[in-house]
Parts: sequence; structure tokens; C-alpha cells
Amino acid sequence: MLRCTACGREYSLRKPYQRCECGEPLELELFEGFAGIGKSVWERFIQFFPFELDLDLSLGEGDTPLIRARKLSKKLGIQLYLKNETVNPTWSFKDRGTFLGIHRVLQLGFDKVGTVSTGNMAASVAAYASRAGVKAYILVSSNIAEEKLKQIAVYGAEVIKVRGDYGKLYYESLKLGQKLGIYFINSDDPFRIEGYKSISFEIVEEMMPDYVIVPTSSGGLIRGIIKGFLELKKSELIDRLPTFVCVQAEGCSPIYKAFIEEKEKIERFENPHTIAHAIENPYPPSGNAVLRLLKKLNGICVAVSDEEILNAQRMLAQEGIFVQPASATGIAAVKKLREEGRIKGDERVVSILTGAGLKTLHQLGRFEVREFEMEKLEECLLKS
Ligand SMILES: *Cc1c(COP(=O)(O)O)cnc(C)c1O
Ligand SMILES: [Zn+2]
Repeated sequence: MLRCTACGREYSLRKPYQRCECGEPLELELFEGFAGIGKSVWERFIQFFPFELDLDLSLGEGDTPLIRARKLSKKLGIQLYLKNETVNPTWSFKDRGTFLGIHRVLQLGFDKVGTVSTGNMAASVAAYASRAGVKAYILVSSNIAEEKLKQIAVYGAEVIKVRGDYGKLYYESLKLGQKLGIYFINSDDPFRIEGYKSISFEIVEEMMPDYVIVPTSSGGLIRGIIKGFLELKKSELIDRLPTFVCVQAEGCSPIYKAFIEEKEKIERFENPHTIAHAIENPYPPSGNAVLRLLKKLNGICVAVSDEEILNAQRMLAQEGIFVQPASATGIAAVKKLREEGRIKGDERVVSILTGAGLKTLHQLGRFEVREFEMEKLEECLLKS
């Protein structure tokens, strides 16, 4: 059964329902179980997923490293752990949700899948569709950069540029998908959320955090992570919940704005502009659902500037991890919360590093590199 996150109305699993008539996102029940053994998180937590998972559809997503950040921990006076999602098959956490989403496509008997994205989700859906042998339709905005197109097209997906209000495309695609038999695994699809839960399962296999920091755009990721922790608690595998921190970029922060104004509904964020393009959704489809969760669970919402984001990106690189700007927002938020004293000393903080830096190379500033004749190399090495 699918249930509305706002009004509670129920929908059958036999049809491709994705949103409630009231406009809010649907989700599956809270699953319960115990942690078993197995090579992958899908096997160890098999009881928590809505159907039997076919590992032939997997590209090895999940089971990512949780890295203790020694230098940053010392600098910030906390115990900081980095959940490195950049090592997923298409270099972002989206693969976890796409893996579950593709199962849903096949379960419904569809042979076509789609998504609305110009970045990480597009590449992920294109890759998993190829793997599963279903046709993929990727809807992108007409001003997409050539570089991004290549990353999607290489998997053989049908890429379609759409002119018009890109924000409306999310809803338009769901409507057309229902009509034409294309399952659109968009950002906060109920089954995508089921895949994201696996991040929480992997974290508690290693440690119990006081805070989990989540870069947030549509709200799908943070909803998935929270659902994972709720299921672990319900199953008595943990006895308390961490504090969930929703992070947005200042230049596009509709959830943050509604949160500090104590509103129940988000409003469209006008003229969004941030370097963190992967989290630049001016009207997040799960925005209201995230507000409800933060309120209920005493969560925190933070916004960080482009300058703070770039600074955090460099800090992470000094720890040996290269992330894209959207993923550095988490560390920028931790720094801010720590400076404001909202995170106390020595607390255990996990920041989700959502996607890889190689995807956004063009956003890095210039680096000065010295050049020498080979005869002068010794002299040069001695001096540096
Ligand atoms: C998609 C994405 C996010 C945000 O996830 P939502 O589910 O849309 O909230 C954060 N960082 C990166 C790199 C992403 O690709
Ligand atoms: Zn509803």
C-alpha cells in the first residue's frame, strides 16, 4: 500500500501511483526486520525492501565507505564521518534509488522509463535502464551544456530537450508517463526513497551518529534517510534517532525559507542562483513533506553561501575527497552549526557526500602550476 505523506489517503501498489490527489508525495509503509549477513546492503537488509531485489540489475551501488575525517574533526572539534557516495557506479547516491526504481518499472510490466534531470539523476537512470534493457527517456532543459548531454547520451538514452517552464516538467512528465506507459522515476518517487534508506542502514552498521547532514533539493534523499532511521528504530536495532540536518544553498533555499518563517508550505524560490546546481530546485516536490518531518523530529535547516560551499569543497579535498559543490554544502553547514554552538563539542556527525567533483570540473578556480626545464628539475624539487 502507498500512503499519502500529508493526508494519509491510501493507494494500491498495483498501479503506478506516485502522488496523492491532494498534491503531496506518497510513500510506502515503515518496514521492520533484522540485519542479516550478506555481501551487499540489499542482502543484509532484505526484509526492509518492498520486493525481492534482483542483483543482476545492480551495478554495485551502495556499500560506500564511511570515512573518519581526522583533520576536519580536529579542526571543528567534533567527530566527523564522511559517507562517500561519490564512489557509486554513476558517481552519486542517485544510483541507490534508481536501482529500486528500475525494479518498480519491471514489476509494473513497463518497458520504458524516464526522468526529469540534467545532472546526476539523468546519468543514473540512463545507466540502469541500459543495464535492465528498458528504453530511457531523459527530459532536459533546452539550455543544457554539451558536456552534460554527453554523460547522459553515452548510455544510449533518448535525450529530449524541452522548452518551457522546467519546474512544471516534473508534474507534466508524471501525467504523460501514466498515459503513455513510461514510468518516470523522478527525484522523490516512492521507490527511489526506498533505495535511499540503505544509506542509513550502512551508517548504523558502523556507528550511531548524533547528527546526519543532508544536502537537499527535491527532498527525496533526506526523506529516504529519515525513513531508514525510523525503520531501524521501529525494529529496535537503534534506541534513538539522530538529529537530521537539511542543508540548502542560500541562492536556492525554498525549504529553508519556509522553515525559518515557520510556514507549513514552501513557496517557489524566485530567481535561483547558486554554484550548487545539483540542489537548485526552486520548487521541491517533497518540500512540504520535509518541513513536516523536520518539525515532527526536531530537525534543523541551514542555508550556506556559494563562498562557504567552495571553501568546504577545498576542505574536503584536503581530506582526500573531491566532491561537487552541492555535496560540499554539508560540511559548510557543519562549520556554521559548530560556530553557532548548535553542534556541541565531540558529537558524532555524519555528512553525506552526495556526488563526485569530476562532474563539475569547470567550476573549480585556476590552480598555479610551475614549469621547469628538466635540467633544472633538481633545483626546483629542492626549493619546493
Ligand atoms: C540529487 C542530489 C542532491 C539532493 O537530493 P534530493 O533528493 O533532490 O533532495 C544532493 N546532492 C547531489 C550531488 C545530488 O545529485
Ligand atoms: Zn494526500
